[in-house]
Amino acid sequence: IGSIAESATLKVDAKAKSLQAAGRPVISYAAGEPDFATPAHIVEAAVAAVRDPKNHRYTPAIGLPDLREAIAAKTKQDSGTEISAAQVVVTNGGKQAVYQAFATLLDPGDEVLLPAPYWTTYPEAIALAGGKQVDVFAGSDQDYKVTVDQLEAHYTDKTKVLLMCSPSNPTGSVYSKEELQAIGEWVASKENLWVISDEIYQNLTYDGVYAHSITELVPELADRTIMVNGVAKTYAMTGWRLGWMVSPLDAAKAANNLQSHLTSNVSNISQRAALAALTGDQQPVRDMLAAFDRRRKVAVAEMNKVPGFVTPTPQGAFYVYSDVSALIGK
Ligand code: PMP
Repeated sequence: IGSIAESATLKVDAKAKSLQAAGRPVISYAAGEPDFATPAHIVEAAVAAVRDPKNHRYTPAIGLPDLREAIAAKTKQDSGTEISAAQVVVTNGGKQAVYQAFATLLDPGDEVLLPAPYWTTYPEAIALAGGKQVDVFAGSDQDYKVTVDQLEAHYTDKTKVLLMCSPSNPTGSVYSKEELQAIGEWVASKENLWVISDEIYQNLTYDGVYAHSITELVPELADRTIMVNGVAKTYAMTGWRLGWMVSPLDAAKAANNLQSHLTSNVSNISQRAALAALTGDQQPVRDMLAAFDRRRKVAVAEMNKVPGFVTPTPQGAFYVYSDVSALIGK
């Protein structure tokens, strides 16, 4: 535990929220969090769940069967990958899924190829599992996306996992079909290399762009890929703490063993709410997306007016990421 640091984003966000609570006019850009309320039909499902005593008890650590079925259907629809509900582990947010994925796959000293810039939780999750982070840097000149040549240059006989996050936190970049296909084929050519594919922003894309999944493009990777996902971003449900991992059965079983001692089942109320989110009306998602799109255009236009900032137009998530390297040291 001594080897890891507190979440920088949550620390700044907590400070912003306490200043807001004290009446100060603070707008926080610290955490990746929609500012919308959770859509009403999801909230209603949660209210109904609270009133039902069957939700007042422990349920299987791995998740409610209905929800795991709905997640399997979503994975087929949005990740283009046929899976069974048995491969799904419902977690306390995508964050726990990230942690459990690394904990399940890594032995001490194993290396993880981590495309940079990256979300600040990945290094700590890797460190907690005893792994070694190997940064693969992609600048604004390549739209913050790594290439096969770069990955190959950092690959060693200790490389165990490639982390992919598309659409990306923090850059909003989305790998094209061709780019992701090439990376997937490269992974397939390495015998013991796994992928952790963080797809939590897959439903938040703009300009008609579609976020492909690596297992959709290279299906043979399905038996060495762990997908991470959740309802937080798409459905404005960050506070509900509901995510999941999808993995080969043996990895799901191992992760479930860990989770059964760590947190047990995710709150049944949140699980019922997530079920309503995944199976209910998707119009609120389209409305939020339209708002994010308007803000994206304003933010990019304004940030590009700042001398020395280079700000690519993000195709996904709700981040705008300026390259300020020309200003460092000035
Ligand atoms: N993956 C990425 C890339 C994220 O940005 C986040 C939230 N910042 C998560 C996973 C986890 O989200 P949550 O735990 O709220 O589901």
